[in-house]
This record gives sequence, structure tokens and C-alpha cells, in this order.
Amino acid sequence: MLNDVKHIVVLGAGESGVGSAILAKAKGFTVFVSDGGPIKEKYKNELIEHNVAFEEKGHTIESLKKADLIIKSPGIANASELIQSLVKDSIKVIGEIEFAGYFTNAKTICITGSNGKTTTAMLTYHLLHKAGLNVVLAGNIGSSFAREVLKGEAEYYVLELSSFQLEDMYNFKADIAILLNIVKDHLDRYNYSMEEYGKAKMRIIQNQTSSDWFIYNYDDAEIKKQIEKHKIIANQAPFSLKEKIEQGGYLEKEQLSITIKNKFTMSIHELALKGKHNAQNSLASGIVARVLEIRKENIRESLSDFTNVEHRLEFVAKVNGIEFINDSKATNINSVWYALESMEKPTVWIVGGVDKGNNYDEIIDLVKDKVKAIICLGTENTKIIESFEGVVDTIVEAKSAMEAVAYGYRLAKKDETVLLSPACASFDLFENYEDRGNQFKKAVRSL
Ligand code: ADP
Repeated sequence: MLNDVKHIVVLGAGESGVGSAILAKAKGFTVFVSDGGPIKEKYKNELIEHNVAFEEKGHTIESLKKADLIIKSPGIANASELIQSLVKDSIKVIGEIEFAGYFTNAKTICITGSNGKTTTAMLTYHLLHKAGLNVVLAGNIGSSFAREVLKGEAEYYVLELSSFQLEDMYNFKADIAILLNIVKDHLDRYNYSMEEYGKAKMRIIQNQTSSDWFIYNYDDAEIKKQIEKHKIIANQAPFSLKEKIEQGGYLEKEQLSITIKNKFTMSIHELALKGKHNAQNSLASGIVARVLEIRKENIRESLSDFTNVEHRLEFVAKVNGIEFINDSKATNINSVWYALESMEKPTVWIVGGVDKGNNYDEIIDLVKDKVKAIICLGTENTKIIESFEGVVDTIVEAKSAMEAVAYGYRLAKKDETVLLSPACASFDLFENYEDRGNQFKKAVRSL
């Protein structure tokens, strides 16, 4: 794959770009890093420390064209003018995961989907780690795969992969692939076509052989459509909340059931992660564990003692009987659907921010059923107000997390819930979703 490659250019100096640059340098290539924006101080220092030349706040095209191979950040679209002009010059462009994959023979467990990737990746890591396997978590989460491959210590990698990362993978193979769901998200990068977005997600199974595994959500209509169009060579282990599955996993009468060779069952009440979406995540991770022949007692223990990831349906505190939940990471309608669906008490819902093309009609019935008041938390709330006027009696607007929490505290009664599950990105009022979640938690804790 790397025959005739001597000089590598890395586009984008974030975690994946810098990881790739350091790996490439260590493997004896000459490396140049180019970022269209400013490079973070810590990454600049790392590049300097490793003697990697770089430029920032703009690309010098002539320097880029000297590359035998380009490794691009998943943030740069393949359709962009920059990439198109490089491809036209017959320069090969790949992503960080593809590149790092050339340098390891460890087993990879790759997780993708529109929602639930981080939770499932962390849960899977937890299961493998607690079972004593030599496993590292990387990809779209924490440390880059390239950086971890350079350390070279793992026998298993659990990788969280976005559709953008998958698009830049060609020869890479997942030994175990998980596809959680395909719902509307990031459609701006896919010509607003679900078909194209779905196709990118299905790259998770490319190059798989008959000794590999494909774990997927059997209930997901888009996945079903995609599966009909693809030849699946790997062993299949679907999971379902609706139907019994012979090889794979399902939920029946509050019981998880996983069959890989033999059967493993566990009550959902024992699971650390609550809600239907999390039953799916637990099924997917549990199937991986069974494929790797982790002992049932071990699986049971890990699925029940896992601590949930921050900002995903995270319980914050109970104040005077009012429960506050931080689901700041819910940036699309589908994840809000699951959040509302799992609410068991009357809910004051904090929603809003930068809309990525939401159609609120999809959750009208659920909102009618679960939500007693809405607090809009965004600079522009017209769409939310128009969608829910007449559905929910009380709709107010807040311009900060502090104000939203104060409204929540006033509008909710004892034994009710205040849920931050915004359905939108956070950039209008916050730095990112973590900042939004942290400000929310801080405001709750200061009540
Ligand atoms: P991702 O990494 O794919 O963005 P996260 O695990 O960070 O996913 O969760 C993002 C949001 O989606 C959270 O609000 C979470 O509660 C919700 N969520 C988690 N798992 C699922 C799932 N399987 N299906 C739908 N929504 C989910």
C-alpha cells in the first residue's frame, strides 16, 4: 500500500492529523502538516518536538502537491475544492484510520452509527478490559488510532468511527463491525441523501471475510435497505428490540438474550445503562463479548457496573425532589426521541441551539405524552416555538444555562424531571456540547 511513498502530507492538525504525522515520521517518511486554520498550541509543540514541518492558517498548494500520499482530516470533505484538485493530480488521499491500519495486526472492533457510538465503544472497551484482554479505545474518541498504533501495545482496538472517517478507508478491515443505526444527521455532507450517508456507513463491513463478524440493528429500516444492496460475507449477528434473533441478540419481556453458540440472558433491571436505546447498545457490546468468548459472569458484571458517559442521559442531581438530567450530547431528533421515550415522570424539556435540519413532527406525539413545559435554549427559537405551540402549554425562552435551569426549577414540581436534550448543536451560546452540559450541571449544583 505504501510502495513508492516517501513524502506524506497531512491535512488538518487535530488529534488524528497530529497522530498520523507522528506515526508517519516514526516509520521513516518525510512529513509535512498543513492546516487551514490555527493549530492548537499543544499540537504545535508536539509537531516541533517530533521535528515535523508544518504550516497553519492556510494551505500552500505547491507544498501539498509534492506529496506521494495525503492523509486528510475527516473534517475536510472529499468534495471540497482542495481535495478535488489534489485528486486530479493523481495524489492518493486516505484517512488516519486507513493509514494507522497499515501498521498493526491487532484485532479491531469498529463501531459506527448515527447515535450511540461513544456509549457503545466505551461499554465494549469496559467489557474487554474487565475480562483481562489487552485492549485500547481509540478513533473518534480520546486518543487517535495512529497515536495508539505507534505505542503498539494492544491486541485489540475498540474504534469509534464516524461516517467521515469511514469514507477515507479503503483497505482497512474490521474484525468485528457494529452498525447501530442510520438516521438523519450530517446530511449536509451527503448532498442531503440518506442513500449516500447510508452507503458511507456500510463501509464498516468492507473487506470483511467469512471469519469476521457484522453486528447490526435489525430494527433499523435504513440498515435493512442497505443490507439488501450489499453482499455480506462476515458472520451476521443482528440485534432487535422487537423480534427473536437466532444468532445475535434481542429483548424479550425485560430480558436481554444473546446467542452466539450458546445463550446468555440478563434482566434489563440489572443493566447499568437505562432506556431502550441503551438496551441496543448493551446488546451490541454483549454480542462482541460473546464472539470473543468472554465468560458470562464477566459479561453480566460489566454490563451492570458500567458508569455512563458524561453528557449522555447523565443524572446530575435531585433538588427538592426534582431530577435534573444532562443529555447535552443529543444533537439530533433521534437521540432526543430516545431520551424522551425513557422519561418516566412529567418532564420539563430544555431544547434548542443550532438546528441541523430538524423535523419536530417526528416527536410531536412523544412530546404531547411526556413534556409539560418547554424551555428554549438558543439564540433563534422560532422553529421550536412554532412546532410546539398548541402542543405544550408553557414555552419560555432562556439565553443561558443558568437561566434555563432557573426556569426548570420553577416549572417542575416534586417527582418531576428537568431534561436538557437539545436536538441541536451548541455553537450559538456555548463552545461545544461539553461546555453546554458542564454549564448546565454547574447551574443545577448551585440551585
Ligand atoms: P455518538 O457518539 O454516536 O454521538 P453517544 O453515545 O455520544 O453517540 O450518544 C449521543 C446521544 O444519543 C445521547 O443523547 C444518547 O443518549 C443517545 N443515544 C445513545 N445510544 C443511542 C442509540 N443506540 N440510539 C439512539 N440514541 C442513542
